[in-house]
Amino acid sequence: MQIRYKNNGAVKHVANEVGQGFIDAGLADEVRPCITAPIPTPKTTWEVLPGEREGQSPFVHAFCSGCSHHLISPSPSPTTRFQHCRTLETVPAEIGKKHAGMLADFRQGTDRPSSVSPAQSAIERKRFERLTSARKA
Ligand SMILES: [Zn+2]
Repeated sequence: MQIRYKNNGAVKHVANEVGQGFIDAGLADEVRPCITAPIPTPKTTWEVLPGEREGQSPFVHAFCSGCSHHLISPSPSPTTRFQHCRTLETVPAEIGKKHAGMLADFRQGTDRPSSVSPAQSAIERKRFERLTSARKA
């Protein structure tokens, strides 16, 4: 604990028992640490990013430059909360909308250009159709 000696005003860090002894004897007062840590201001940047690896769906990323906290949500919903700076933020509507759009593109496979040539696609499709019809027979 911290105490301030009454005789000279000096402030010292001392063991709790020692400090309490001085206080009980009327020789010192306790100096309580004042909690002056500033409350950070929320400064959040929201974005929707494509999956970082092949096959990974797009996700919502929030970053607060006030407190350096991150939120990563691959499946944001109206109940998703970003807790930081003593506040709870919800995913902004336009970000939720953008994520839903990118997720739909991702599921349809239209989010990245195909590396397969149209000719190769045609060959693959024919083979697939042959296999499917062979299974039905
Ligand atoms: Zn924050």
